[in-house]
Amino acid sequence: MQSRSRNPRPDPGSLPMRLTSALLGLLVILVSSCELRKERMFRRSEFLMDTIVTITVVSGSKGKADEAIGKAFGELERLEGLLDFFSPASEISEINREASAAPVRVSQETFDLLERALEVSEKTDGAFDITVGAVVSLYDFQGKKSPPAGLIRERLPLVDYRNVILDRETMTVKLAREGMLIDPGGITKGYAADRAVEVLRSEGIRAALVAVAGDIRGYGSKPDGSPWRIGIRDPRGKGREDVIATVELKDMAISTSGDYERFFIQDGKRIHHLIDPRTGYPARGVISATVLAPLAVYTDSLATALFISGVERGLEIAETLGFDALIIDDEGGYHMTESLRGRVEFTKGAV
Ligand code: ADP
Ligand code: MG
Repeated sequence: MQSRSRNPRPDPGSLPMRLTSALLGLLVILVSSCELRKERMFRRSEFLMDTIVTITVVSGSKGKADEAIGKAFGELERLEGLLDFFSPASEISEINREASAAPVRVSQETFDLLERALEVSEKTDGAFDITVGAVVSLYDFQGKKSPPAGLIRERLPLVDYRNVILDRETMTVKLAREGMLIDPGGITKGYAADRAVEVLRSEGIRAALVAVAGDIRGYGSKPDGSPWRIGIRDPRGKGREDVIATVELKDMAISTSGDYERFFIQDGKRIHHLIDPRTGYPARGVISATVLAPLAVYTDSLATALFISGVERGLEIAETLGFDALIIDDEGGYHMTESLRGRVEFTKGAV
């Protein structure tokens, strides 16, 4: 104050004036870099894990977005190598080849995932059961052939999650019966979506949507501040874009299991890939089951479990676990958990 009153008209070369113009210059740079950094959505799809994976990230920089997306896809490739049922080099194949003879030591990651799978089996009275592999592998969806009844009957005793023995001390997996096959296909896609999200977060991405086919996890919001919106497919509709409803996805995961994903028609019956572990046949009564929960590893496995469990028991399981669910029965009727009501916007046939 004092210096100002002594020097009312500062000359342009004075320190305060130089500071002011420097600050103004800085402001111009900041404003223009904000313009440059305007957030946008960057999206890439790849064929991985036997399906189409789409990763969308929100970022102010294309370079940063590309790098983060690349690393997330790298993580999915790594998981495919670890968990693929069909690849002889995966840990799952090693278990399937050797674990009925002697315990097989696996990575902590595979061990943890198997433990989760068994936890879901316990919570769903075995409706979700990764040991369905012994029966699922009998169905030929490409050749449109289902196995003879005798063979299903023969293999059915090999389906029981309680015969997977995990020992955390030694990090080993043992299969109690010879011929058992672990098929983690009903939980790996959700787990992969979770892992991709972790990678994107650690790359500094503030919002993203990872869709491993129907197993989707999102966090943050779109560049305009609005939440991610996910469509729930019409199970008898014209294709992927034909939806019956949409739901907001705020820091959540969503999965749908449907009888339209992999199927063929035989003698007028739809033979699909969601097998009831109690019978060895495709589950009947439900045509689509959707679950919402914080982690995709749970939504993926539970969507399968709810599909198998049927409307009544399915909703009961979801309510008990505190997750939301929407189940469509084989007459096209919609059924949902109480807390989901009002959060789903139906585009076809209201409830
Ligand atoms: P999608 O593969 O269409 O997303 P899911 O996530 O529900 O469907 O997983 C279906 C896959 O899970 C099947 O292809 C099969 O490998 C396996 N599977 C089938 N029935 C069961 C079951 N009852 N419990 C666990 N896994 C199952
Ligand atoms: Mg699933």
